Amino acid sequence: MSYVQEVIQQVIKKNPGEFEFHQAVKEVLESLEPVINVHKEYKEAGILERLVEPERQIIFRVPWVDDQGKVQVNRGYRVEFNSAIGPYKGGLRFHPSVYIGIIKFLGFEQIFKNSLTGTPIGGAKGGSDFDPKGKSDGEVMRFCQSFMTELFRHIGPNTDVPAGDIGVGAREIGYLYGQYKRIKNAFEGSLTGKGLSFGGSLVRKEATGYGLIYLVEEMLKDHGRSLEGTKVVISGSGNVAIYAAEKVQKLGGKVIAMSDSNGYIYDAEGVNLDSIKQIKEVERKRIREYIESHPKAEYHEGCSGIWDIPCDIALPCATQNELNGEAAKKLIKNGCFAVGEGANMPSTPDAIEAFLNNGILFAPAKAANAGGVAISALEMSQNSMRYSWTFDEVDEKLKNIMVNIYKNINDAAKEYGCEGNLVAGANIAGFIKVADAMLAQGI
Ligand code: GLU
Repeated sequence: MSYVQEVIQQVIKKNPGEFEFHQAVKEVLESLEPVINVHKEYKEAGILERLVEPERQIIFRVPWVDDQGKVQVNRGYRVEFNSAIGPYKGGLRFHPSVYIGIIKFLGFEQIFKNSLTGTPIGGAKGGSDFDPKGKSDGEVMRFCQSFMTELFRHIGPNTDVPAGDIGVGAREIGYLYGQYKRIKNAFEGSLTGKGLSFGGSLVRKEATGYGLIYLVEEMLKDHGRSLEGTKVVISGSGNVAIYAAEKVQKLGGKVIAMSDSNGYIYDAEGVNLDSIKQIKEVERKRIREYIESHPKAEYHEGCSGIWDIPCDIALPCATQNELNGEAAKKLIKNGCFAVGEGANMPSTPDAIEAFLNNGILFAPAKAANAGGVAISALEMSQNSMRYSWTFDEVDEKLKNIMVNIYKNINDAAKEYGCEGNLVAGANIAGFIKVADAMLAQGI
């Protein structure tokens, strides 16, 4: 058994039942074989063994009172995975599926993604099994306040800077930040994704979606193609999906389908984004409402059917493992030639294998969705300077970051003998920077 495989087996043994974490570790470590074979110093310094063990894991009780006056208890998490290149950075996810294995997979991915942005931020993730869906504003506020009453002692602008993820948007960040400020009596940039009137950055809301399209566009350009005139299927209808769709439309592509956790809509004429924003961002309703105002569109229950729709480009922007091997084969058969991952780890290992073996242009999540956290890092910079850049200034920086990421991952793949495999390229380029910092800082 190779050294890399031994480390993977150790991870599986030491972290039983944490399947998503195993999957993420396996994907990264296996693609690092060519690097480990050349750089013996990484093995000697135990870099891989140290990398797969979080620096700190915090699990805490979150008690709160619901609208009926009943006491509810949820579990809170913050996994501070790696601080080799900067303060811990990564979002908070509030979703009933959250357990330690999900937070660890996300935190692990975040190390490499954050490294790829070229900004000095380490990797972390947190969240809770709390479900904001169907809760009143008051309930969400009380939950967020209780969550921060524990979390505040672990974070800070130079220590750990959380942000949003699934289930944590502007509303939740506002409540979390309010409680942090109340407890600390300090106006510091300890969270990103804040409202524009209290230290937030322009373009943060759009950043993951726009960044995804900037990177996909760069990948297409490199292969003599463009978004102009393409049919695009996007899963999800949160921040990532909505702003990816907006950019696709601006660049001449047609978004023909979007989804939420109940089902998907298909609109052959092109999805009307104003309607989607109204339903999702303002009314917080289900995507099926779309067909009320667009009777020519179709609604289908269930999510996986979205990948049956023939398209040129597929952008999974909903959640982990939403696109499996079977879906990948259908997409390929129907003529899809490019895939960009907006969510974290949305494609299963067999889906990735199918894409790579069939010459599909495939932009992996760590690179493709790094725009969000990149602009979070720029929000931290602006907070430190007590200054705000304009929308165009931030957007320009985002574009440069995504163009650089594409170049770096493409070059890394070439250098280590896996030309065109951007999955390996992203893992390798993200890893080397962190590994070198860990080497330099000793054990
Ligand atoms: N949750 C986002 C991600 O997966 C953003 C994290 C951040 O801005 O810190 O990268």
